[in-house]
Amino acid sequence: MNVILIRYDEIFLKGKNRGSFEKKLKDNIVYTLTGLKHKLHTISGRLEISDYDQEQEQAIVNRLTKVFGIYSLSVAERIETSKENICSFCESIKLNNKSFRVSTNRASKIFPIKSMQLNIILGDIIGKNNPNSKVNLTTPEVDVNVDIRENGYTYISTSYIKCVGGMPLGSAGKGLVLLSGGIDSPVATYFLAKRGLTIEAIHFHSYPYTSELARNKVEMLAKKLCAYTNTIKLHIVSVTHIQEEIHKKCDGDFMITLLRRMMMRISQIIAQNNDCGALITGESLGQVASQTLQSIGITNSVVNIPVFRPLIGFDKEEIIAIAQKIDTYETSIMPYEDCCTVFLPKSPVTKPKIEKVLREEEKLDIETLIKKSLESEEIVTISNF
Ligand code: ATP
Ligand code: MG
Repeated sequence: MNVILIRYDEIFLKGKNRGSFEKKLKDNIVYTLTGLKHKLHTISGRLEISDYDQEQEQAIVNRLTKVFGIYSLSVAERIETSKENICSFCESIKLNNKSFRVSTNRASKIFPIKSMQLNIILGDIIGKNNPNSKVNLTTPEVDVNVDIRENGYTYISTSYIKCVGGMPLGSAGKGLVLLSGGIDSPVATYFLAKRGLTIEAIHFHSYPYTSELARNKVEMLAKKLCAYTNTIKLHIVSVTHIQEEIHKKCDGDFMITLLRRMMMRISQIIAQNNDCGALITGESLGQVASQTLQSIGITNSVVNIPVFRPLIGFDKEEIIAIAQKIDTYETSIMPYEDCCTVFLPKSPVTKPKIEKVLREEEKLDIETLIKKSLESEEIVTISNF
């Protein structure tokens, strides 16, 4: 029978947590395969997908390659373990002149033939039936993998698909990403979901200065991210009145600094109300005025929960390459502005001094401004299906 074999190495590192990690991974796989018929089993140290429609195999593989915690996949033939069955299946392997090797993994020590010996036996059989295929032990074009498991079955595969790896979604708690419409924050989201954080998102808008299209764009980005995060609870919050108030009362060059401090304060409250243990941003050191060491220090100092900035050491080019890989780039470069470009100062400060920032903030009724933003909150749950 044709099955898909799933490998998930890193979870093994987690000792006594292994059970709950495996459960998370299985739940996530079942969710990802919504609408595609299949059965999922645990077999010692692997997962197996069986009983699917052959014509949906590629769709299943495609979705599984985006599930965090899966390190690799193989489409394999599952046979009952016996020397005869293994040899007879190997008789049927066609290599189309490609070089090959046999790699046996004998997890079941009951099987009497040692791995090295079986490699030689099967190599001979395959070689006889594929006279134009050479054995290549170091860089073969086809690796015939013979996995003899403890469950009485042997899995033979000639394909090996490297997957995203990481930790199962939800195994590390929950984080709130500050999701703009730009290139960076979706990539930051991807990286922390990959380390096991369930994702909620907050987007700030300045409607009517920013358009409905900007909001749609963020929802589209969240939807793209759902290929990896399953669902995203998106909090949509207005900062229009805050930008207007800063514009009216404060030194214009401090617009971004003051606004970003307000965003951080609001994000912290929403994170705490939703059991999110960290904020996530797409900041990259030195990329723009608000991302200098001084600016980041000043925006960071208004919150006391961890702020994860996975892109802090990345160049724009590196970030774009990942945005393309995770398929958010084309959406991110759509032209609609998020709130930061409204009331943009001509010369934003790059090295704000905290004393000056505090003096500017004294002109604002911070509590009331935050309250008004929180009252504006809309929640949309975005999901993949
Ligand atoms: P991005 O590509 O993510 O938009 P950026 O290079 O435009 O980032 P900034 O505008 O300085 O950089 O924003 C830095 C980070 O602040 C963003 O990555 C995002 O996490 C957060 N952020 C900025 N604007 C918003 C917004 N309107 N709503 C939510 N978060 C925002
Ligand atoms: Mg931006």
